[in-house]
Amino acid sequence: MSRILIVEDERKIARFLELELLHEGYEVDTAGDGRTGLEKALSWKPDLMILDLMLPELSGIEVCRRLRHESDLPIIMLTAKDDVSDKVMGLDMGADDYMTKPFAIEELLARIRVGLKKHRTVQQQAASSVLTAGELTLDPASYAVTWAGKPVALTKKEFDLLRYLMQHKGQAVTRDALLSDVWGYDYAGDTNVVDVYIRYLRHKIDEPFGVKTIHTIRAVGYMFSYE
Ligand code: CA
Repeated sequence: MSRILIVEDERKIARFLELELLHEGYEVDTAGDGRTGLEKALSWKPDLMILDLMLPELSGIEVCRRLRHESDLPIIMLTAKDDVSDKVMGLDMGADDYMTKPFAIEELLARIRVGLKKHRTVQQQAASSVLTAGELTLDPASYAVTWAGKPVALTKKEFDLLRYLMQHKGQAVTRDALLSDVWGYDYAGDTNVVDVYIRYLRHKIDEPFGVKTIHTIRAVGYMFSYE
């Protein structure tokens, strides 16, 4: 079930959208200002966001701009009036689509389906594309990892962890993010499991080849960085 976040300060519109989307079978959450919207977009991890432009706390444009540093979440902007400069700015800031209020709900629903489908396709392509860093190659399709062409044997969890780190190359990732995205957010075990698996990976990827690909970022977590 896809999750949709509605960021809209006009209560009547937000409520109307919420009911329509629930009726369509989506999981829905709402935020009445830009700051809360941005927080929920990052913590709740929706599959698509409907974002009003004129918002208290943070404008829709600002939410878009900040979100794009961390997420490729599809965004459909709502503009109150037919303001071309707002739309252009929103699209420049990384919104995927926009609708002018008042809008026909059927059209918005159609655009939501398009946005979700496009996003899934991009994610599937990203999930199956070969990742490389220097001599290191990871192929998700065949579950193969090689160093300078020689196979490196990893367990499934080690492989998933390395893939996640390589997909976020150059970005510090927190232990919490690793736990929820690699182990699944219903994982109920010890958070030290992340450190243990990082050690396993270093033992198999870094130590045998005398390199440092997985870096400890103090008070944050880890970062994969190697060219
Ligand atoms: Ca508004």
